[in-house]
Amino acid sequence: MSAPVAANASLTPLPGHLYVVATPIGNMADLTERALALLGSVDLVACEDTRTTGSMLTRLGLRRELVAYHDHNETEAAERLADELAAGKSIAVVSDAGTPALSDPGFRIVRACRRRALPVVPVPGPCAITTALCAAGLPTNGFFFAGFLPPKSAARINFLTKYQDFDYTLALYESCHRIDKFAREIVDTLGPDRVVCIAKELTKLHETFWVGTASEVNDRLAQASRKGEFVVLIAPASFTL
Ligand code: SAM
Repeated sequence: MSAPVAANASLTPLPGHLYVVATPIGNMADLTERALALLGSVDLVACEDTRTTGSMLTRLGLRRELVAYHDHNETEAAERLADELAAGKSIAVVSDAGTPALSDPGFRIVRACRRRALPVVPVPGPCAITTALCAAGLPTNGFFFAGFLPPKSAARINFLTKYQDFDYTLALYESCHRIDKFAREIVDTLGPDRVVCIAKELTKLHETFWVGTASEVNDRLAQASRKGEFVVLIAPASFTL
């Protein structure tokens, strides 16, 4: 049985409230009932890419006013949207996929609202990092989510060196263009026996978890297609499978 629901957590948007809405990372069935209800009834949807969100809403049979809110206009758009909230509009912020504000636009509008004491309501749901962690079998008692590492090898190797003795799992996003390079950097910097997981295409048709020593996972990755989206998890040095 679910707990009683506060007014700001109901399926109906309240005036002046910002809803931070998670959307699927691949499988549309992962959209929550609350996300669906709110996306269909807020005054405005602020989105990273109006075409991506527009086509998601169309597939869901919804039509809403969309406003661009992305890396290039985030600071200015956050203040403008906060003005709209202060004037009484309800707004949902979404990214292309997953949870806004995690390696995605979202932080600035949330901060603008908090600074003005405007209500912010999380609408939780899919997130690539927690999806990978919960099924990888690497330690979950604590983890450090570091987002995307910088593209340059030297910066990634610095990061790995700095955290080589970290007590908790390291959790990272990596692009398909650098995943093979990063897998080799892990072997070279942390050693072939470090336990890692590379999770690919989570919740999608070709969902794959490679879990093993860094050298095993590197070999398996080398034999597979590197197309798709990847999460990288690195266990603490003391962990064995
Ligand atoms: N905010 C999003 C979230 O909550 O999942 C993450 C956005 S970030 C721009 C996109 C990165 O997340 C991808 O490059 C990849 O590293 C990871 N990612 C997103 N969807 C994924 C999926 N279905 N499978 C594996 N990794 C995924």
